[in-house]
Amino acid sequence: MSEDASIPRVALVTGANRGIGFEVCRQLAQLGWIVILSARDEDKGIKAADRLIRERLTVIPYQLDVTDLDSIENARQRVADEIGRLDVIINNARIHYDDWQRVIDADMTQVREAFETNTLGAWHMTRAFLPLLRESKHGRIVNVSSGAGSLVSMGARTPAYAMSKVALNALTRMFAAELAPDKILVNAVCPGWVETERGKGGRPVDKGAASIVWAATLDDDGPTGGFFRDGRAIPW
Ligand code: NAP
Repeated sequence: MSEDASIPRVALVTGANRGIGFEVCRQLAQLGWIVILSARDEDKGIKAADRLIRERLTVIPYQLDVTDLDSIENARQRVADEIGRLDVIINNARIHYDDWQRVIDADMTQVREAFETNTLGAWHMTRAFLPLLRESKHGRIVNVSSGAGSLVSMGARTPAYAMSKVALNALTRMFAAELAPDKILVNAVCPGWVETERGKGGRPVDKGAASIVWAATLDDDGPTGGFFRDGRAIPW
């Protein structure tokens, strides 16, 4: 094993106290990685991390609200002080799957809130952690998107959510172009329709998480600036 391969990678997952983000933490930690399980509610993060720590996984709970710049800065400072490195960010946190409204009469406050978390949250996170990612030899940014943000199949439903994911996809392309010289791979990933607290009848959460873990664990010559589900490119 090379010296590099023996050093565990470090990943930070946002919105990881439940759902797909939680399972992503489990799967990355099962690879021997150090995983920062971040949650906007500190107690929920601690409880979720404890479940994985009991599975003998290396998981560290952090308080992190992606809409709060102070919270992001505190987390960045903690990573720098306590771990000193970061290889992967997974921008997973989201709000407002607004299947209760249509584009024609959408509550614009909810639209703004969706953008604050789902799009600007990922943007702020990426900017804040970029200096650490640039020091990594295997920097990866995974923006957890959705087929709802695909323009080719765009309809009138879930307007706040869909628009915020379209913008997240655009952000993925822009950061991928910007960071190509740094060899940081930036991709958008749809986990597929997954059964979580929100939606029943989807596929199991471990399958959705695996779609994301694929992009977090890409080889250094892997793709960047793409939109994927289960390791396969899907249309923007
Ligand atoms: P979820 O169950 O709704 O969980 C969302 C997570 O985001 C929760 O931990 C929530 O925290 C957190 N969060 C919300 N606002 C936040 C903020 N300001 N700062 C930090 N964390 C925040 O979501 P999910 O179903 O697991 O989905 C995970 C990702 O996959 C999302 O990006 C989603 O768009 C995408 N996706 C999911 C599906 C699906 O079928 N489930 C399909 C396509 C794409 P609280 O617990 O405090 O609310």
